[in-house]
Amino acid sequence: MYKLPQRQVHLDFHTSECIDGIGSMFDKAQFQRCLKKGHVNSITVFAKCHHGWAYFPSETNEIHPGLHGFDLTGAMLEACAEIGVAAPVYLSAGLDEKYFVEHPEHGRVGARTQRQPSIFEDNGHKYANDSPKFHGLCLNTPYLDVLVEQVKEVMERYHPIGIFLDIVGIPHFRCYCDWCRKTVISLGLDETDDASYIKAAEYTKKKYEDAINEAARSVDPNVRIYHNGGHLTIGEPDWARQNTHLELESLPTGGWGYDHFPKSVKYASQLGMEHLGMTGKFHLSWGEFGGFKHPNALRYEVALSLANGSKCSVGDQMHPYGFLDEATYELIGIAYAEAEAVEEYCYDIDPVADIAMLTVEGTYGDLKRNHPSDTGANRMLLEGKYLYDIIDAYCDFSKYKVIILPDMIGIEGTLGEKLAEYVKGGGKLLCSGTSGLKCGKLAFDFGVKFLGKSKYKPTYFHPEYRALGLTPSNYVFYNNMYETELTDPSASVLGYSRIPFFNREADHFCSHRHTPFVTENNAPGVVIGKDGAYIAWDIFSEYAEVGSYILKETVHRVLDELLGDKKTLKTSLGAQGVVTLNEQKAQNRHVLHALYATPVKRGSGVEIIEDLTTVLDTEFELKLPPIKSVTLVPENNEIPFTFEGGVCRFTIDKFTCKQVIVLEHEKGEK
Ligand SMILES: [Zn+2]
Repeated sequence: MYKLPQRQVHLDFHTSECIDGIGSMFDKAQFQRCLKKGHVNSITVFAKCHHGWAYFPSETNEIHPGLHGFDLTGAMLEACAEIGVAAPVYLSAGLDEKYFVEHPEHGRVGARTQRQPSIFEDNGHKYANDSPKFHGLCLNTPYLDVLVEQVKEVMERYHPIGIFLDIVGIPHFRCYCDWCRKTVISLGLDETDDASYIKAAEYTKKKYEDAINEAARSVDPNVRIYHNGGHLTIGEPDWARQNTHLELESLPTGGWGYDHFPKSVKYASQLGMEHLGMTGKFHLSWGEFGGFKHPNALRYEVALSLANGSKCSVGDQMHPYGFLDEATYELIGIAYAEAEAVEEYCYDIDPVADIAMLTVEGTYGDLKRNHPSDTGANRMLLEGKYLYDIIDAYCDFSKYKVIILPDMIGIEGTLGEKLAEYVKGGGKLLCSGTSGLKCGKLAFDFGVKFLGKSKYKPTYFHPEYRALGLTPSNYVFYNNMYETELTDPSASVLGYSRIPFFNREADHFCSHRHTPFVTENNAPGVVIGKDGAYIAWDIFSEYAEVGSYILKETVHRVLDELLGDKKTLKTSLGAQGVVTLNEQKAQNRHVLHALYATPVKRGSGVEIIEDLTTVLDTEFELKLPPIKSVTLVPENNEIPFTFEGGVCRFTIDKFTCKQVIVLEHEKGEK
């Protein structure tokens, strides 16, 4: 049974000492009423904020001067306990502005050339004069000891169910301060090499996490602990396990985008830990007072968490006077009431996946949370309604029918050996660009030899089939193309590359944009051989950056060929739809989630959801063990279906935003 509460709020409270009357309008009844209105069963309340202040009479820190001794943390905890709402406690770790202005020498140094800003004092109020922002601290300095004492005090004073430490992702540990330089030297690394400081960051991160975990567990060995860095790093399972569970911060309008969460949660699901999806109530992001997203957006975001077996958390921010905003909890309540009605079908699940995707992020370490090759592949899989997982080199490969290596996954070392074992067992690979190369050669049999990067760019793809349902044409591919040569005449060439007359240069160019194609085929561009498929372009990153339909259709066609009749799910649901299929073994059933919403651009670079179109006549075909009934929940509406030759077929007449569909199995059949 799951332990992590399903409907959470993450309550921010970063409040300047220049504001008085903190918590002066806190009213236990109002606080409780809002939580009930929001169908909230856990709220992360605060003990220490980014400004550095404590919100209770602290012995290890200073209480916010505007609180005048009031124990706001304690009052919120008491309010929650009375109504059975769980309340982990937040402490800002990587940011503490009050401490920074006292100890700028403990500030994080982000580059070799960085100097800490000057500190000014005005009427006893200290501030850094460079800009109105928080300044990061280095947890490799004596500040760590101060933080450990603050955590211990909160644990001893309140015995909270959990603690949440913030601003402690790996980027927050990259530092060039004197302490970190000494760490580099003590680790026997070269202090003039930037890579040494990445190693030092990993060392400091572990040192910090161990110290906090030990301090908290010395008071309560079962306390829940989460160290938040804004993104779950793919490919570092040991980092994830420094937490008791995972909180996947991913505010679609706050810079993460709508396709970050599916990618993150599909990796989190591989780690055997409980997780939650954290979005926000804001129009934009954290720190926005008076910003609201449309209720339809929150309904969709919460449904997306449920579809992936993730508990939910919505970020909010309290007014300095200590009251919760009634409208915000009405907004949250709309989404959470819908969640509550279907939760029993959403947790304690095993996601079903035909395909797994390795990532550039997980292969090459911490690059960025949305690497274009990973983003493009993830979008293609989502839009194609494929059932897939995001994996790293430590996962079990054998359960997948196809593994995708997007664009640039080199396979030196153990990854190569594991993939070789996988294809020996009958698994298929899809490699593109320079993926699957070992010492410059393709390590798998795709029926072609890899000859290196083409000198032409852009180039063209000439399919041997009716792409887009049209007569084969020549499709521009803007990204890098790679030259190949057919080695196995029995390999299936789905299409060829074609080159332009010449590259566009100052001394010879043609038309407004780029040069047209020559009409002869150049080399196999998309080919399927014994071990799977090779696509001779960096096709996935191009989809993230250019987004043309032909790129996606090409990959979908290859995946369908590779999956053949082993594909678990087919549906008529359109590109913006999302489907997931989860097994609830204990209940002898599968649960299918169908979602549909259309994020659109509003303002400058803001992607929002407003309209929810009703989707009509969605057909599904699922390869599953015998099915006894198909029921729409929470409506409890049993719908007609057929089950023939191992395939269950049914149609959902209409749904808006999301539909949960329960497929009960015959007893003893599963
Ligand atoms: Zn440092």
